[in-house]
Amino acid sequence: MTHKLAIDGGKPVRQQPFHPWPVYDHQEEEALLEVLHSGRWGVLDGTRVTEFEKQFANFQNAQFGICVPNGTLALQLALIALGVGPGDEVITTPYTFIATASSIIQVGAAPVFIDIQPGTHNIAPDLIEGAITPRTRAIMPVHLSGRPADMDAILALAQKYNLFVIEDACQAWGSEWRGKKVGAIGNAGGFSFQASKNITAGEGGIVITNDEALSERCWSIHNVGRIRAGAWYQHEVLGWNLRLPEWEGAILQVQLARLPGHMLRREENVNYLTRLIQAEVPGLIPPAEDPRITAHSHHLLILNYQPAAFGGHSRDEFVDAMSAEGITPISNGYIPLHQSPAIQRAMGEANIAHLSLPVAEQAGRKSLWFNQHIFLGTHQDMEDIVEAAKKIQTAWS
Ligand SMILES: *Cc1c(COP(=O)(O)O)cnc(C)c1O
Repeated sequence: MTHKLAIDGGKPVRQQPFHPWPVYDHQEEEALLEVLHSGRWGVLDGTRVTEFEKQFANFQNAQFGICVPNGTLALQLALIALGVGPGDEVITTPYTFIATASSIIQVGAAPVFIDIQPGTHNIAPDLIEGAITPRTRAIMPVHLSGRPADMDAILALAQKYNLFVIEDACQAWGSEWRGKKVGAIGNAGGFSFQASKNITAGEGGIVITNDEALSERCWSIHNVGRIRAGAWYQHEVLGWNLRLPEWEGAILQVQLARLPGHMLRREENVNYLTRLIQAEVPGLIPPAEDPRITAHSHHLLILNYQPAAFGGHSRDEFVDAMSAEGITPISNGYIPLHQSPAIQRAMGEANIAHLSLPVAEQAGRKSLWFNQHIFLGTHQDMEDIVEAAKKIQTAWS
């Protein structure tokens, strides 16, 4: 028996919403009010942001952390503090949020896009070496969805060619590569606490590193060029005001304490959904397993959609049909950045429009994304997703 699809006017598989996001309770409320009533609203008077910097760096197996207003500025700050600028090239992935590349362009350097690896959606380690030129200064891998990039291969190349490694860990709170948390495996890493991210204060970001001199440069640049022991109006370098207000620090402390429990929940539901999909929905392909990934934030679950298994219907049609069935936290994901009009204009269309990066382009057409907050829900939620996919597959086959 086939049921009429919701997109054709049938009854949707599901009507109730998925797990809400953000998650908060009285702890955030109390932390916020405490800052409010303390009158210490700025990081230079208060303790919340400074405490959070230490706690997050520690959680992420790093020595130093410097909070900034968002993840984009975290990446930019790391680049500037490492001296990456005009004339330099930074090797990175095109299948990522625009901020990875815009941070490189906005410090005056040029992103060099190489293709991704099928099955991981991360930078293809075996293509990096061929992209290295005398101008290459750094590699910026992205731990996309929270899945660590191949840090062994990346560090080996960085060492061989004397390059910096700046990790875009903006989706990878708590993710581990061979037992070590990401972010400070290379020289430095940036994280985001924007509203959709697994821990959030609405906005926010942090740079982490194990390099003390680098952390001091970041601190100085983020605090209008002051130095720690210096006078208020003593500015040693040109910086910005990239300081975070204390309420964000207060909220982030509570959010960080909640993260380990949330990570277990997401892991459990992602595994359950993946098993169900593998058993019951041919044509939706989960990412490849990799035993070197010892913890995964599951900011996203990215599946590879195969139109042939759905009567030739496109990924976009599938996303629309799923949404109509009430599976709303599903999306199409990124357009690869070498195809982004903004990046093409910024870099000069002639410089990148000719690039052919077939795996990233395929990912742009065939990826299906599920967002982290649905994995905080129940097994029933996962079963509804599978039921909707099967219903569509049956109707279209
Ligand atoms: C969210 C994100 C960023 C940027 O973070 P913002 O806080 O939004 O500036 C950068 N890179 C990736 C991969 C992201 O997901």
